Amino acid sequence: MEDIVLKPVGQVVSQTDNPDEMPLGGLTAVIEVYPQYAAALKGLEENSHIWVLAWFHKAPRDILRVNPVKVNPDLPEYGVFALRAFARPNPVAMSLAKLEKIEENLLYVSGLDAVGGTPVLDIKPYYENDIVFSPDTPYIRGKDREMRQGLIKKQAIVYHQEECQDLHIAVRMAVIAEDHLGKLNSPDLNVQVKGSLCLGDCIQGISKARLANPPRFSFCFSPDCAETKWTKDTAELIITLREIPGNLDFESLSDGELFIIESSSRQKI
Ligand SMILES: [Zn+2]
Repeated sequence: MEDIVLKPVGQVVSQTDNPDEMPLGGLTAVIEVYPQYAAALKGLEENSHIWVLAWFHKAPRDILRVNPVKVNPDLPEYGVFALRAFARPNPVAMSLAKLEKIEENLLYVSGLDAVGGTPVLDIKPYYENDIVFSPDTPYIRGKDREMRQGLIKKQAIVYHQEECQDLHIAVRMAVIAEDHLGKLNSPDLNVQVKGSLCLGDCIQGISKARLANPPRFSFCFSPDCAETKWTKDTAELIITLREIPGNLDFESLSDGELFIIESSSRQKI
């Protein structure tokens, strides 16, 4: 086969050019499209999200198996085609970013997983057909609580599209549920939500639980409370938000200060 020659259409301008400083949710950044390609941007502003295909120019290309070290170094090795690993034979990066605004040949984006100086190969609109709401995925469990909370929060924001107070409550509840019951999008994990629309929406986005096929999710609108009940096999976990005075720093509160947590195991009949 002949080699394929690609010419970058632009580059990433970011606050960091160090891949180790890139958080899992990506960063706000600017994509500078080179002037000779600016005409190709016509109409792109009609999209809220874009796929950015870039070239991880600093990535090793001779590695075929890796540990998902960034998320959890204790997990087993995977082939690089089974992960979104940095190292791969052709280090094509694929990042879904939110398109905030376009000014001439500059795309202002958030959630971009590419450091400053990364050559950009292509930009494509993100379509609703790209969504698979509840796919099967390996359980890449985060190495510590901070990591797990970050991964869950990212899923919640992608789904719910606003970082409201109820999103933070949902994320904290989900971290506790994951600690008790494991993988949150497991087909045999059911969740019932009693609370606000935002809480229900965030929990659904995190757990990928649908109302049917299979039925894993139920919701009761009750704006004055926030309660989630998680069940898997014989295990049951109920997490209820305590009444919190409004002026307290939510993030500094422990699980026990925030929630009443009841865990039990039902008898199998
Ligand atoms: Zn909300």
